[in-house]
Amino acid sequence: MDNASKPHAVIVSSPGVGHLVCNLELGNRLVADHNFHVTFFVVLESPGASPGESQLIQSATTQKQLHVVVLPPVDVSGQVGPNAPIFTRLTAVMREIRPTLGSGISPLKPSPTAIIVDAFGTPALDVADEFHMLKYVFVTSAWPLALMLYVPILDKEIEGEYIDQKEPLRIPGCMAVRPEDVVDPLLDRTKQEYNMFVQVGSEMRKSDGVLVNTWEDLDATTLKAMREEEAYGSVPVYAVGPLIKQVEPSAASKKSDLLDWLDQQPIESVLYISFGSLGVLSAQQITELAWGLEQSQQRFIWVLRPPSKKDSSEEDGRGNDALNYLPDGFRHRMGNLGIVVTQWAPQSDILSHRSTGGFLSHCGWNSSLESILSGVPMITWPLYAEQKMNATKLAEEVGVAVRPKIAPTKGVVGREEIEMMVRKVMEDPEGKAMRVRVKELKISGENALVEGGSSFNAMSHLAKQCLIKSQSQIVKGP
Ligand code: UDP
Repeated sequence: MDNASKPHAVIVSSPGVGHLVCNLELGNRLVADHNFHVTFFVVLESPGASPGESQLIQSATTQKQLHVVVLPPVDVSGQVGPNAPIFTRLTAVMREIRPTLGSGISPLKPSPTAIIVDAFGTPALDVADEFHMLKYVFVTSAWPLALMLYVPILDKEIEGEYIDQKEPLRIPGCMAVRPEDVVDPLLDRTKQEYNMFVQVGSEMRKSDGVLVNTWEDLDATTLKAMREEEAYGSVPVYAVGPLIKQVEPSAASKKSDLLDWLDQQPIESVLYISFGSLGVLSAQQITELAWGLEQSQQRFIWVLRPPSKKDSSEEDGRGNDALNYLPDGFRHRMGNLGIVVTQWAPQSDILSHRSTGGFLSHCGWNSSLESILSGVPMITWPLYAEQKMNATKLAEEVGVAVRPKIAPTKGVVGREEIEMMVRKVMEDPEGKAMRVRVKELKISGENALVEGGSSFNAMSHLAKQCLIKSQSQIVKGP
């Protein structure tokens, strides 16, 4: 099929590794399995790409499956303040890029018929009207999506702060949301971030469809509710996942000390610990985690970052070297039992390695899906964004994770509890049952994406909508 007869979609990825990972995979799938032509706009915050972003951009550009366009980095600190929360910052960036995005779309041939933005990108959807494109929003996980679509109604119904409610927030047909689990932008209704979140929910309801990175078997009840309950705004919801960063075929032959070490460990014996691209722990929490690991005597790979500025006591001289926050003698005592990584880790390679048997994770949705698709049960450690909801779902509904009694954002999780959770996932019968469950889910996720699977069919439907649109544009003429 030549480019002129293919559906042409524009994907606009907001800044951040987590957003790039799943948007790129969506683009790759649309091209490889559904004959799309995809122009992929990368949006960066000033001063430019982080090491993780650079790696992803470089690999997508080399693969040439997508037409990758990197827009000039945007600085919104003057508009929203230097310490604005992430949701406010990123939605401001996505508003700011509208003229550059428009100039990037205008010369594209054939004219794109659809634009897909992520949950921060709805302010950029105005550009779609200028070019008569279908508008879609691609959202990470289903339950937070339901909350987002329903929030314009909660906003009218609920008085006072959501976190002060005595009862869980009821959202039609879905698991109720405990006040302490609500996503960060809803924590304070007096803030600009809250209003922006409600506005994004309203804009999503007006789009031509919402794509969500899950599959029918994982989120049957939530997907059904969003499709059947008018309260969600009757916007079409397409489950197109699980879309995760693929392990490059050359991974098996890649040489690194880390992967060599993994090769030598017994099957499913290593706990991988990572808090995503942004997550950091307090100095005290790092100490407790280290002691908990030591007491558990389980093998581990720990991606360790220094504590955030407000916690790192500059006056104690430990500075910005993450290793300085480990208890004295920890690495010596652990010897060959574990590895501490202070750089960007090859997470997909680690999780999919046969020696990895557990994942202590911040529950970013990419990490959660990577864990499920590697058949690895989790210990949940949610820190920001919608991670508390993801953690509750994984532990209480899906049954593939254990969670600490105290929320890690509320206080310090002690070494005894950490030891107990690590043992539970790595050794106990409860962990074995979770392992069986997560392996079943892995198969169901893989099946959703093969020809005839539910997510494959959802993307085919999307392709049809785009083709119908492009044909109607050809009939109408420019
Ligand atoms: N990641 C990685 N190496 C690291 C940390 C993160 O490869 O050291 C990848 C991880 O595999 C995932 C993404 O970065 O694909 C993080 O996305 P997620 O949604 O889990 O969390 P976020 O960083 O957006 O909070």
